[in-house]
Amino acid sequence: MKLAYLACALGRHRVDLTTTRAVHGGKVGRCRHCATALEEVTPFVWEAQKVHDAGLGRRFYG
Ligand SMILES: [Zn+2]
Repeated sequence: MKLAYLACALGRHRVDLTTTRAVHGGKVGRCRHCATALEEVTPFVWEAQKVHDAGLGRRFYG
């Protein structure tokens, strides 16, 4: 799945719809490939949350 990881490196994460949950004002979830925390900024548009991620988001290229 190197193409998926390349997309992640470019900031185009793919949210795992099975992990999304509603929070006040929106939805949050995790990338199905790299587990980066994502938030739905507008319907169907997901962006990585700007929070400290304990290093999980840095494993794109293993
Ligand atoms: Zn990702």
